[in-house]
Amino acid sequence: MRDLYEILGVDKGASKDELKRAYRNIAKKYHPDRNPDNKEAEQKFKEAAEAYAALNDDNKRAKYDQFGHAGVGMGDMGGQGFDGMHFSMEDIFSQFGSIFGGRHPFEDIFGMGGGTTQSARSGYRKAKDLRVSLQLEFIDILNGTEKTIKIKRNETCKTCDGSGAKQGTHPTQCKQCNGSGQVRQVRQSFFGQSVVVTDCPLCHGSGEFIENPCSSCNGSGIRRETVSIKVKVPKGVENGNYMTLDRQGNKGGKGIQPGDLLVFFEEKPHEYFVRNGTDIILEAHIEIAQAVLGDSITVPTIDGKASLKIPKGMQSGQVLRMRGKGLPRLRSNYRGDQLIRIIVEIPTSLSKQEKNLYNELDKISGSKNPSFNKMEL
Ligand SMILES: [Zn+2]
Ligand SMILES: [Zn+2]
Repeated sequence: MRDLYEILGVDKGASKDELKRAYRNIAKKYHPDRNPDNKEAEQKFKEAAEAYAALNDDNKRAKYDQFGHAGVGMGDMGGQGFDGMHFSMEDIFSQFGSIFGGRHPFEDIFGMGGGTTQSARSGYRKAKDLRVSLQLEFIDILNGTEKTIKIKRNETCKTCDGSGAKQGTHPTQCKQCNGSGQVRQVRQSFFGQSVVVTDCPLCHGSGEFIENPCSSCNGSGIRRETVSIKVKVPKGVENGNYMTLDRQGNKGGKGIQPGDLLVFFEEKPHEYFVRNGTDIILEAHIEIAQAVLGDSITVPTIDGKASLKIPKGMQSGQVLRMRGKGLPRLRSNYRGDQLIRIIVEIPTSLSKQEKNLYNELDKISGSKNPSFNKMEL
């Protein structure tokens, strides 16, 4: 058995915060949602949960420090399951609630994204999550915004209050499963008898029988409706970030938890500005005289016009940086920069006067030979 501190990658003297941080990192890395069907990851995930549970308990930690694995009931001889030290995946997921806070530890823009929700694993019935995408302009990303989105989702039928039964009547207990929603079937197989528990075929797991169905929802207890939902978008979000609105997805019938609403953010491309992380890239075309002599130009930024100094001797292709004129970083006061790539325009048609002046310049500057990085011809 591996040393518990080693499993979490911490020192013997690690504080509780350090333990928690270490465990959280390992749990994220080996989370089954990110490692589907990976037995090794699952093993590491479990191992870390067990190590954390033992070390986070002062009493157990002291015993472990003194007696090793046997002290916390994890010894090879110590018998499995003693003191609850061997965890099932369900145990670990229920433990997440307290460590990560919330039912969706990995499912929001501040986390890492994931697949199945914990609720599905803990076994309670939950209606389907909904996904929508929300288009954002740069200005929304700059300032954060509140948007109202319209979505179609299953709503509890108001006529029957989700029961599915006609007004004035009530659902009765399903006769086949006696209200439990589940039936046991004994199956004969080559290996002998086995008992299989399945959803009741008559009531589909609800445990209820509806004699007179509600006419608004045909007995389902739910209706499809369009609802408006306010979404508070924090500043600094990026393409692909998403937010989980708890219980704002489909509503289920009676006894079923509402699903969640996942709002994915989508950036509308800007006509001129190009986003690169928190920086914004823009091209500016200037004339030869401006590049040679230097100038001050007015440039658009996402929060209005700003002035930019062109130093004299500006080369075509060089980039000027306007600090703090980019986009904010999520959950931070940092703002990126605006990068202006300077393109010096070479005129393709000249007036007579301009042509004379260029000729004049040419005579003054002398040498006709191009330079090849000082290479001798
Ligand atoms: Zn109804
Ligand atoms: Zn039934």
